[in-house]
Amino acid sequence: MNIELIPVGPFEVNCAVVWGTEKEAFVIDPGFDAADIDAVLKKNGLAVAAYLLTHGHMDHIHALADLHRMHPAPVCIHADDLRWAFEETNQFLPYYSVPEKPDAEFIHPERSGLGKSPGMSFQTLETPGHTPGGVCFYFVDEKILFSGDTLFKGSCGRTDLPGGDGRVLAQSLKKLSVLPDDVKVYAGHGAATTLGHEKRTNFFMQQAAG
Ligand SMILES: [Zn+2]
Ligand SMILES: [Zn+2]
Repeated sequence: MNIELIPVGPFEVNCAVVWGTEKEAFVIDPGFDAADIDAVLKKNGLAVAAYLLTHGHMDHIHALADLHRMHPAPVCIHADDLRWAFEETNQFLPYYSVPEKPDAEFIHPERSGLGKSPGMSFQTLETPGHTPGGVCFYFVDEKILFSGDTLFKGSCGRTDLPGGDGRVLAQSLKKLSVLPDDVKVYAGHGAATTLGHEKRTNFFMQQAAG
């Protein structure tokens, strides 16, 4: 699997473009800078198979509408985050205005039927707490986890934003803690890590796994 990470926007979200042997890519969390993401797609001759959103926060979805105009494809987002992702509450001025809702097909991850091609198959793990509809995308064959804002290297997502819940997030971290140690973790912000490293050193992970 090929992975190109693109740090995008004022909050430096890790947008990821992933693809296998086919020239069909998943774009994970197109948070900002649509032109930069488009350039990566073009450089590698990729079409977009789907947009995968770890959650609805504006810093992870702000370039979606622009990118979708250039590369129409279904958008995979949990229904509990789709509810508010394109509403006025989901802005953070002066950095992020209200995200424009693309004229797209929105699919709840469980029902997507996506990610079945060899080497590109993934599971959607429901990991609420940072937001009600937060998910992680787990590429099982590759042992790669896109953890969104649920798990960071040395930390975890904040739970003081609307819809956040610390106890629920702890349950989600516990769910992640059963995955193998050698799973590589690409978080929504900051450096990559492994699950084993987090289990050994991340206070929040250890508290949750208890
Ligand atoms: Zn977030
Ligand atoms: Zn974020």
